[in-house]
Amino acid sequence: MTPDLEKLLALHDLDQKFVESRSKVAALAKDCEKIEADYQEFAAGYLTAKEKVTAAQKRLRQLEEDLAETQQRHEKYTADLMKVRNQKEYGVALHEIDVAKKAIGQFETQILEAMEEVKMLETELSRFSPDIENKRQEADASIAVCREQQADLEAELETYRSKRSEIEAVVTKPWLDRYNRVAKLRAGSAMAEARNGACSACRMTLRPQVWVEVRQGEIIYVCDHCSRILYHRPEAKVETMEA
Ligand SMILES: [Zn+2]
Repeated sequence: MTPDLEKLLALHDLDQKFVESRSKVAALAKDCEKIEADYQEFAAGYLTAKEKVTAAQKRLRQLEEDLAETQQRHEKYTADLMKVRNQKEYGVALHEIDVAKKAIGQFETQILEAMEEVKMLETELSRFSPDIENKRQEADASIAVCREQQADLEAELETYRSKRSEIEAVVTKPWLDRYNRVAKLRAGSAMAEARNGACSACRMTLRPQVWVEVRQGEIIYVCDHCSRILYHRPEAKVETMEA
């Protein structure tokens, strides 16, 4: 086999592995999404209940802030009452104190109601325990495994990339260009094995002389029909390479 053909074949093997690993990465990404989606589906009721608790807690906090603010206002006007200089200012302060008092009463009632609501919603939420936590842990563990496998494959892809650059540097340029061109046209597969006198990719029968010479591997041929670079691996050699 000519050195160029050997290197092109190595490139071909590498590219096949690359495509395989890349599709595994894509499949794993889908697996991760599916795990999360399954959890979300399982947890739909829980998540709704949790949202309700969060919203009720937020409402409660807001009411408490409003109450504190109104209490401050009440204190301010009570203090103002001591400093009034005329009947009009006295009237205004009294009125504001009255308004604040009423508001404080309303806020206090609303806070009690909101506290009741939070308590009720929290009870409702607690009914999902401990199943939901267990399910979450399971999902997280599965996702972690999935991500780990993804990372391993990404590292593999990186190795393929650097190996490819090494080979690219030593293949004769016109052959490398041809390889890349055909690979682009043929979904990443620039080479085809010649088997039983035909191109195994497009099934085109080779001229007898070409078939002989492809087997000898001393001249590089391309398939007349699909333009793939032809190679031939004797059976024994295939086994060794796979082993
Ligand atoms: Zn062909």
